[in-house]
Amino acid sequence: MGDGTGLAEAMLGLDGFRVLTVSETVDEVTITVETVVGVVGCGRCGTRAESQDRVAVAIRDLACFGRPTRLVWVKRRWRCRELDCDAKSWTERSDAVDAQVVLTRRAGGEACRQVGQYARSVAGVADEFGVCWATVMNAVVEHGTPLVDDPDRVGTVTQLGVDETAFLAANRSHSTIYATGLVDLEARIVIDMVQGNAAADLRKWCVGAEPDWIKTIEVVATDLAESYRAGLSPHLDHARRVADPFHVVRLANRCIDGVRRRVQNATLGHRGRRADPLYKIRKLLLTGTERVEERGRERMLLGLRAGDPDDEVLGAWLAKESVRDVYLAETRKEAHDLLAVAIYRCDIDPVPEVRALGKTLARWFPEILARFDTGASNGPTEGLNLCVKKVKRCGHGFRSFENYRLRVLLHAGGVTWPRRPCPPRIRTRAPHSDA
Ligand SMILES: [Zn+2]
Repeated sequence: MGDGTGLAEAMLGLDGFRVLTVSETVDEVTITVETVVGVVGCGRCGTRAESQDRVAVAIRDLACFGRPTRLVWVKRRWRCRELDCDAKSWTERSDAVDAQVVLTRRAGGEACRQVGQYARSVAGVADEFGVCWATVMNAVVEHGTPLVDDPDRVGTVTQLGVDETAFLAANRSHSTIYATGLVDLEARIVIDMVQGNAAADLRKWCVGAEPDWIKTIEVVATDLAESYRAGLSPHLDHARRVADPFHVVRLANRCIDGVRRRVQNATLGHRGRRADPLYKIRKLLLTGTERVEERGRERMLLGLRAGDPDDEVLGAWLAKESVRDVYLAETRKEAHDLLAVAIYRCDIDPVPEVRALGKTLARWFPEILARFDTGASNGPTEGLNLCVKKVKRCGHGFRSFENYRLRVLLHAGGVTWPRRPCPPRIRTRAPHSDA
């Protein structure tokens, strides 16, 4: 090129580089560049270095007009002329390109943003940039780790949510592996992810956290898992424990599912199939009754009549509805009474699953009611759960917990992303009214 007007450099936008040639194929644009340097001194002795030779290094940069860019950097190799100096020879470096990395820094940062902020798959981004999977994953680690470790990412937390998610599904060699997510319920961000869901895993995290920071936590919302109750002690004994409404209702929903599956199996001798009466209404059973319309209600009753001879599923459904009623209460007193009624009804139910539900509710009585004193909401955990699942889905499963944690935190951890160009909008030309 070398048209002397700097047009090519303006488009390239890499400080300190000059464009030598541009060539293209349908699949990529190749830009050959060199640095604009004059005099270079030896790093050891300071003597003026002399040019030895050049090496061409190919790297990927941001896509150029819709095509992946191959940047060929004709690197200069310098040599020290001082005979006594042991510097010998070296190749030049640039802040825009890390040694041994096939993505420019800006391309690496963008790859990290695509995977982290937008929860895109590493394979998809690798494909777009024309590099391999490991290159993109390395860029995510390289650029993402400082963002996640930024001490300003997590502020003072007064309401902490603790929630488990499945990290790896069970297979032949291991049972399901869980991860525990720690959530700032007010800022609606994931603070951290811990491998495992045992008391010891959570306690280890509490030990590692800043004591002054932990002191400011006033409310801890968890699901109804004894391991979390144990794991929060003693470091979070000062905080009010709340059973997360979302998880309380989910427990009742799981009770319905359990009873339904058992009854299905007992009456039909197989797992639910599409035409089975109970299978057909499995979602209706879980929907809050106030959200079911007349037709749905009829369908549900028909399904129960056909598939639930001993009213076992119906019993579980009634239990679920009485649990949901607790959260419709207007006052703490009302909630207290409704919860007592729900537990009593479960207790006298002949179905073992329903009785077990009642026992769990009784064990968590104060925590369930605490929700009415603290107002800790269930929205954030539920919403963040979806974010976590999105990351998991796009990763098609993870082998490395560290990568999983990094990607969840990049996506839902309230990371401050580096500023990105924010051009004025070019507006669509509205059709002229006088046309
Ligand atoms: Zn030297």
